[in-house]
Amino acid sequence: MIVLGVESSCDETGIALYDTQRGLLAHALHSQVAMHEEYGGVVPELASRDHIRRAIPLLEQVLKNADVPRSAIDAIAYTQGPGLAGALLVGASVACGLGLALDRPVLGVHHLEGHLLSPLLSRDPPSFPFVALLVSGGHTQLMRVDGVGQYTLLGETLDDAAGEAFDKSAKLLGLGYPGGPAISRLAEFGDPGVYKLPRPMLHSKDLNFSFSGLKTAVLTVVKNQITNICEQDKANVARAFVDAIVDVLVAKCVTALKETGLKKLVIAGGVGANRQLREALDAAAHKRRFRVYYPELEFCTDNGAMIAFAGAMRLQINPHAARRDYAFNVRPRWPLDELKNV
Ligand code: ATP
Ligand code: MG
Ligand code: FE
Repeated sequence: MIVLGVESSCDETGIALYDTQRGLLAHALHSQVAMHEEYGGVVPELASRDHIRRAIPLLEQVLKNADVPRSAIDAIAYTQGPGLAGALLVGASVACGLGLALDRPVLGVHHLEGHLLSPLLSRDPPSFPFVALLVSGGHTQLMRVDGVGQYTLLGETLDDAAGEAFDKSAKLLGLGYPGGPAISRLAEFGDPGVYKLPRPMLHSKDLNFSFSGLKTAVLTVVKNQITNICEQDKANVARAFVDAIVDVLVAKCVTALKETGLKKLVIAGGVGANRQLREALDAAAHKRRFRVYYPELEFCTDNGAMIAFAGAMRLQINPHAARRDYAFNVRPRWPLDELKNV
């Protein structure tokens, strides 16, 4: 079965073809980062309009790269939520329009389920059950994953998401948008321990997170500079920030593994691309004898492959999950635990 995936929840248009027999056939992505950069964040209306421009050319490109005709598509999966309403509507209407034209069933997919299952696209995928740390621009959650659709929330952020903390702190340091990768690169040049930032909820005895205080601590350090902050100091603050957030994320993952008794940890979402986080998790895994799995770097942030894959997994379990009525509604807010088990 070949499933077409359409992702348009935020500022990336992603299209992909996943074959349950042959794996990922092709995928293409257009990131709108350059367009939103000058505004310091995503402008929803601009995002929607750009998805409209990109979706069909990306689809043509994917079909060409996969060397399959449109008629080879068996089903179409699109991101139904959560995300920006207007952006989601573009992907949903492209998917349903295409479904109607090709006479193929269409299925709405949960964006976070896509992120969560994305490590299964890698060459050495984990088997169920595992603990998953989902660290993206809008979410920070620890989950127990027993199978497709079987997710138990273990803990989550009470305020900012990890990616949001990266982006906001980077902005305070004048690093542009999105600042996660930039603050991570700058931190490589920073000296450890020059600034000591808080590790929120490190000892909270639960699996929840809180990152808004960390961003405020960065603001305080930056404001306390009498003159303009020098480049080395910026790197030192970046280093302190990355060290703090990585410490908390790793500690909570270790606790989640202890509490569940599981030995496999899966990292998903954009912050999973972070080098310092990967190094710290690898070190913890070596020391505490668990295994950690990451998605391929290109599948950490938003992409169509994870949506095609999540759609294919759902359809394998329940072929009736896709519909032919081509009516759609998007769900800008959609907690993962409301997702019905399959
Ligand atoms: P959600 O999936 O929760 O709706 P999103 O789709 O915006 O949010 P992703 O695309 O998964 O989130 O990830 C984007 C986030 O990942 C941004 O906050 C970005 O700064 C962060 N990020 C990407 N690469 C890195 C990196 N190397 N280091 C730190 N953060 C990073
Ligand atoms: Mg994005
Ligand atoms: Fe995402």
